[in-house]
Amino acid sequence: MTTQVTPAYVATQRALGWPDIHPEDYCHLCGGRNPLWYADRTMWRAVTATWAQETGREGICCPGCFARMAQEQGVHDGVWRFAPEPPPDLQPTTTAPSDDGAASISEEA
Ligand SMILES: [Zn+2]
Repeated sequence: MTTQVTPAYVATQRALGWPDIHPEDYCHLCGGRNPLWYADRTMWRAVTATWAQETGREGICCPGCFARMAQEQGVHDGVWRFAPEPPPDLQPTTTAPSDDGAASISEEA
C-alpha cells in the first residue's frame, strides 16, 4: 500500500464510493497514510468544527493534520501525547453513569 496519495485522489475515491481504498486509509487533508487513532469526542469536535462546516461532513485526518488544525483553531498549541492503545483485554471496563452522572471504571481481573 502506498504511503501517500493526493487529496484529489481521496476526493475521487469518495465520489466513486471508495472502490480502491478504505475511507480511513489516508488523511483527507494531506493524503498521507492514516494510522488507527482517535481523539475524545469533545476534542475532535472542537478541532474539526470549522472543517466539518466547510465540507458539510466529518472528515478523516492524520494526527499531524489534527494537531495543525488544533493550533489553527486555537484549541491546543502545545505538546501531544501519542501512545499505543492497550489491547482490548487489558482495557478498564466502564459501567453506565450513575444518577449523579459520574461513570465508574474498574479494572478487569
Ligand atoms: Zn494529514
